[in-house]
Amino acid sequence: MKRVGVIGGGQLALMMADAAKKLNLELVVQTPNRNDPAVGRANDVVFASVDSAIATGILAEKCDVITFENEFVDLEALSVLANKGVCFRPRIEALAPLLDKYDQRCYLRDLGLPVPKFFNIDRYKSAQEKSLKSQVAELGFPVVLKARRHGYDGQGTFIINDFNELLRRLDFENIKSPRSQPLFLLEEFIPFERELAIIAARSVSGEVVAYPVVETQQEEQVCRRVIAPASLAEEVVVEIDKIAQILLNSLEAVGIFGIELFLTVDGKVLVNEIAPRTHNSGHFSLDACSISQFEQHLRAVCGLPLGSPALICAGAVMVNLLGYDGEREYQSKLENISKIPKAHFHWYGKTESRPGRKLGHVTVLLDNNNREQALAIAKSVELIWYHN
Ligand code: ADP
Repeated sequence: MKRVGVIGGGQLALMMADAAKKLNLELVVQTPNRNDPAVGRANDVVFASVDSAIATGILAEKCDVITFENEFVDLEALSVLANKGVCFRPRIEALAPLLDKYDQRCYLRDLGLPVPKFFNIDRYKSAQEKSLKSQVAELGFPVVLKARRHGYDGQGTFIINDFNELLRRLDFENIKSPRSQPLFLLEEFIPFERELAIIAARSVSGEVVAYPVVETQQEEQVCRRVIAPASLAEEVVVEIDKIAQILLNSLEAVGIFGIELFLTVDGKVLVNEIAPRTHNSGHFSLDACSISQFEQHLRAVCGLPLGSPALICAGAVMVNLLGYDGEREYQSKLENISKIPKAHFHWYGKTESRPGRKLGHVTVLLDNNNREQALAIAKSVELIWYHN
């Protein structure tokens, strides 16, 4: 396999393009916008929206294998291409149970993996109020309401504190998109002690390798920082590794998958969400591992042997650089951040900055795995980025 097609042209495709060069592969991206991060770095571009299967047909003619950098695709239309012999990795059947948050929860539960309690809210109407009340009573407030599809960075995820707020939110979301009637997942709020993630890859031959479990910290549902490795009891690490193995094998997945988890105060692990692609919580691997998640993904989808996911340092902390209101001159801040010892920064070259948008990230390598020290370094990066 020499030419890899990627549906999506954002920062994940950009970082994959750099890994492709290392492996002597060519990357062709399908993305709508000439300013998208991967456009300048890819070998070729099909300019079209990511859910255009017609464009993916054109992409397929240029490539040996097609993979994904986001999940906003039209899976039904892509399965027609797959039936005609287009090679998707991961395969369409592995994505099918994951793209809708409710279907995903059902899939994980049926596999016997631990998930929060959840219900489907199917096309909310006031006539359903009674049954909704009894479902909510089973979960207890607060509850978490999530749009079943197209959520990212907390868009479409709402923490709801009482029944009236829930009704208002359901009405509002229904009015906002009256034609496409959004469908919702309602689940229990987990008062987690920490959020964790694991990035795992599965090869064509079924080998699974996993990067160290990391701690992720979200603010307003957006990932702000990642500490690798997470400081955890050995049995928790073993359990999370097992979850990754079970999931990737059951999906017969090929490529990198990101698994987000909750750790409760009493040491219970619950799966929050699966991303069938490279993931923000694995960005540390670019600088802290000899094989990054992007190279690992390309190795998997091209049928190459997988590489070691081990850290090449004692630890690392990754900080997302998010856009904010006001000053748009980032250059001097980036210069100051790069003066931090063992800091590696990655800038995505986005031409448009919005508050909360991921514009780049910094990984600082550590000579120990002391959580407090990692958090102090993250704080110093954030002080420069958001306040100086
Ligand atoms: P997205 O797909 O938009 O990233 P997630 O389902 O991963 O949405 O939720 C984003 C964040 O919201 C999580 O990382 C977590 O901080 C919080 N969250 C989501 N679900 C729950 C839950 N059931 N209990 C507590 N917090 C939650």
